[in-house]
Amino acid sequence: MNPSRGIDGPDRDPVDDGERDGDPRMECRICWSIYDPAAGDSVGEVPPGTAFDGLPDAWRCPRCDSDKSYFLPVT
Ligand SMILES: [Zn+2]
Repeated sequence: MNPSRGIDGPDRDPVDDGERDGDPRMECRICWSIYDPAAGDSVGEVPPGTAFDGLPDAWRCPRCDSDKSYFLPVT
């Protein structure tokens, strides 16, 4: 244990304690399907590890065919 730090270290952000690794998942607000960057999209032939921002502009929701503007970050 580091003696210069208490249990609650000074660099801990209590508001932002979620998963920070990787790109955020995105959720379609029409059909609630999730785009997971770690999984990619087999329907749209998107390889795993592709961030939502890295998707082509022509990419559509595999379930309801909405365009990217209908997707919101999963909180
Ligand atoms: Zn959708």
